[in-house]
Amino acid sequence: MPVTAAFDRPYDLASFSGAIAGIPVIAEPLQVRLKSRDFFWYSPLLKDALGDKQAELVVCPRDEADVVRVAAAAARFRVPITPRGGGTGNYGQAVPLAGGIVLDMTGLDAIERVEPGVIRVQAGAIMENIDTALRPAGWEQRMHPSTKRTATIGGFVAGGSGGIGSITYGGLRELGNVLAARIVTAEPEPRVLELRDADALAINHAYGTTGIITALEMPLAPLWPWLDLVVATDSFAQAVHLGYRAALADGIVKKLLTPLAWPVPGYFRHFKSEFPAGRSCLIAMIAEPSLASFKAVVAAEGGEITYCAPTPEGSGARPLYECTWNHTTLHALKVDRRITYLQALYPADRLEASVSEIATQFGEELEPHLEFIRFGGRVTASGLHLIHYSTPERLNEILALHEARGVSIANPHVFTLEDGTRHKRADADQLGFKHRVDPLGLLNPGKMRSFVPAGR
Ligand SMILES: Cc1cc2nc3c(=O)[nH]c(=O)nc-3n(C[C@H](O)[C@H](O)[C@H](O)COP(=O)(O)OP(=O)(O)OC[C@H]3O[C@@H](n4cnc5c(N)ncnc54)[C@H](O)[C@@H]3O)c2cc1C
Repeated sequence: MPVTAAFDRPYDLASFSGAIAGIPVIAEPLQVRLKSRDFFWYSPLLKDALGDKQAELVVCPRDEADVVRVAAAAARFRVPITPRGGGTGNYGQAVPLAGGIVLDMTGLDAIERVEPGVIRVQAGAIMENIDTALRPAGWEQRMHPSTKRTATIGGFVAGGSGGIGSITYGGLRELGNVLAARIVTAEPEPRVLELRDADALAINHAYGTTGIITALEMPLAPLWPWLDLVVATDSFAQAVHLGYRAALADGIVKKLLTPLAWPVPGYFRHFKSEFPAGRSCLIAMIAEPSLASFKAVVAAEGGEITYCAPTPEGSGARPLYECTWNHTTLHALKVDRRITYLQALYPADRLEASVSEIATQFGEELEPHLEFIRFGGRVTASGLHLIHYSTPERLNEILALHEARGVSIANPHVFTLEDGTRHKRADADQLGFKHRVDPLGLLNPGKMRSFVPAGR
């Protein structure tokens, strides 16, 4: 997929650098290159398209005032800005397509306040650190990606979709999962806007194209003592059925239900003893008071609990959630570089039948991996199946065959919002909002394909 030159415009980096004097920057070429990359290489197609893309300079604001200065100078000298948190995005979201600067937001990492059920935090805070700070007060984040230990909250809201916790609270796109966002606009005289409730959807999963997020207000969940569990099953269908029963059991407090078909558990080299060879499984995170009820579901459906221990925390810990969501693909890639993946949303009204159709249609070419979630108020599943890659044509055919069976695809092999986000996208006029906050098209240019800057 060629990167078009439509957004390639001249800019004046030397004058920009002069205008932001005093704000820390990184110009060392290897560092700039590393900070221009994310996990786009999960996709063989994006690997080819984005491998040579990078910024010219990394700018590291220390506070919101620095962000405002950078935005003003960038607008004045037409310098593209690609915001960056932990750089764990998957579709080249944080890869600059038009040079310019990477704006490293990790310096803005303060927790501004914690109130019952709400946290106000700067966008560059690492999500693991947020949970650590919340724990003494008996709260935790409603959901987090499996990259919790390296991802920032700003990167999650701008680039992620959901994860551990989404079986209870749905994805980030559901109203109420982001309470407010404070953003800086990309204009010669930047504005600082507070977007509340539905208005905050404008920056949700927009890849940083609709404002630089400096702070977020996020809703919290009560802290539970979590248990990691592996339930071995005789078939993938049994793991799905068992997971579905647990997902529908409203009284069971859970955070994660992940059915995996063998051989997927075999890719977890650090977790061998937990996953019996040759067996499909369900990975679960269950609140300790709900363990007996969960065991009753397992007994009724015929699974075997092969691992049960408190979810470990802290450095060196190996929580089982790091085998789920997009970590599953990472483990597989470490074993076989030709594996890639897809992102599917199953129809809630015929979930098990639809999963079964897909799981059997592609033979060994597709290795099934599901995540149970709530979506629009209903329990369903997201499919992050592993694909044994052969050609671009076949990959696109596999995606099309899903859609033909009524399974929605958010294509992880493209870098534009319009083509990649689909069911993950918030219900908001992000294009219209972009015209108001980034009229020159300087924020992550090329990612919002439908945007054309005024005057062009
Ligand atoms: C192994 C692995 C597992 C993953 N698991 C999950 C998962 O469970 N769920 C999930 O949703 N995603 C998952 N992801 C994707 C990614 O890790 C998450 O979306 C993560 O939250 C991104 O945070 P980050 O700080 O690394 O963002 P980055 O990658 O740095 O940025 C992501 C996007 O947000 C923009 N951005 C970053 N900060 C700001 C800001 N302050 N203002 C405006 N825009 C900003 C960037 O420009 C970019 O477009 C996974 C990725 C990997 C590699």
